Amino acid sequence: MELRQISIILLLRSNSGKNTSKYSSQGKFMHEAVVLQYLSETGALLEGHFLLRSGLHSDRYFQAALVLQHTVIAAKLCAAMAEAWEGQNIETVISPAIGGILVGQEIGRCLGVKAIFAEKDEQSNLLLRRGFTLKPGERVLVAEDVITKGGRVQQTLDLVRAQGAIPVGIAAMVDRSAGGVDFGIPFRSLVKLNLPTFEPTQCPLCQKGIPIDKPGSK
Ligand SMILES: [Zn+2]
Repeated sequence: MELRQISIILLLRSNSGKNTSKYSSQGKFMHEAVVLQYLSETGALLEGHFLLRSGLHSDRYFQAALVLQHTVIAAKLCAAMAEAWEGQNIETVISPAIGGILVGQEIGRCLGVKAIFAEKDEQSNLLLRRGFTLKPGERVLVAEDVITKGGRVQQTLDLVRAQGAIPVGIAAMVDRSAGGVDFGIPFRSLVKLNLPTFEPTQCPLCQKGIPIDKPGSK
């Protein structure tokens, strides 16, 4: 436990001063340390020696579903995400499936508005299916669990605009972009996670002979 708390402090330090996007900001009402504590306690943020899907190694591994499976914690996190968007006349929350659906649903409930989701077709384009629609001028919040490169969020923004609706902002639980995304509209996350990665040949954990884990696919 002590080790975890130390690394949470290190994570917070590593996050300071990296707020590069003019629109990017932390959730106003839940401190990053509280969010990190939830991620750590639920096993969503693990420490060890991991082989990532990219082939790189890391001393940390993050899986959003492992915190969001705890419904009471998920509700608290999503309420904190929603608070930043109150009073902005959001009419609909939209999420890219699958990861964003749960946070979109909870944020929509907190804001008292509907929540819909976009899903992939065979060519991996995002579409509205199931009779979901957006009206011209409808004010829409995009919600996602984790943003890394931002590709799916950008596709969702394009979809919203193609319907004539107005994307007002983006709410993410975790920002893993390291400041590498700029959507041109307000983007707020509860916490930034800049997790270290290593080439296998330069991995300090390999050099110490620590066995490697291959966590489940996303
Ligand atoms: Zn390694």
